[in-house]
Amino acid sequence: MAAPTWTTPPAPEADIEPARIAYVSCPLCGDAAILDLREADCTRHILYQPALPPTISWCRCHRCGHVFAEGYFNRAAEALVFAAAPPGQQPGDDVERQRALWAEVVERVTARVEDAPGRWLDVGFGNAALIFTAAEWGYRPLGIDLRPSNVAKLRSLGFEARCCDILELQERSAFQVVSLADVLEHLAFPRRALEHAATLLAPRGLLFVSTPNMDTAVWRALDEQQANPYWGELEHYHCFSRPRLYALLRECGFEPLHYAVSPRYRCGMDVIAGKS
Ligand SMILES: [Zn+2]
Repeated sequence: MAAPTWTTPPAPEADIEPARIAYVSCPLCGDAAILDLREADCTRHILYQPALPPTISWCRCHRCGHVFAEGYFNRAAEALVFAAAPPGQQPGDDVERQRALWAEVVERVTARVEDAPGRWLDVGFGNAALIFTAAEWGYRPLGIDLRPSNVAKLRSLGFEARCCDILELQERSAFQVVSLADVLEHLAFPRRALEHAATLLAPRGLLFVSTPNMDTAVWRALDEQQANPYWGELEHYHCFSRPRLYALLRECGFEPLHYAVSPRYRCGMDVIAGKS
């Protein structure tokens, strides 16, 4: 089978009005057969701004079944959405409760690492609770985040932090653990981040990924009650199922090792994978 091709984001100067850049093919498998799934109002989202499109159209890939928004934000729209950090997403927010929630994850990962705790890269660290908790277990964390204020705050708390995208990191095989906690659904092209994460991981390294799981009874119950918050989630471009996430991980050089229900987000799944 020929390798799928990906759409390339346009140059920044092409952006004028805040808008979505339509996917011309499935962002996971590259197939051009995209089916309309549903439309949702996003005007009640906490980060919504009137200059943004008021609805999100969701699509399904005919070939691989992946569900995704019709397009991702151009830079003008991104600037509007990311102007402010959502409540609870700054380093140190809700730190005591978050510590207990992340302890389970760090413990599960640590049970599977073969060496003493090493470097842990957390992508999109938000409130940094995973970083704080990993440090308790003896890991040396590096946090990356696109919000400069979050990076400055984490550094002020004594942790290594950089304001960059995962694709900008070039430290090959440098990390024992790479975590993308509730990050993949926010990325226009999650495959790129996962493929790059595989290059950053040490040979026996572990990947931690969490994201909502749409293939659950909870999700369907929320749909039935017309109370599913994810269809109007302005910041998400993807709705994963466990089978599609597992297939993607395998396509990107990982082997899923452990599945758990996330206590942090509705319908969430926590997956640990090793390098294959
Ligand atoms: Zn697809």
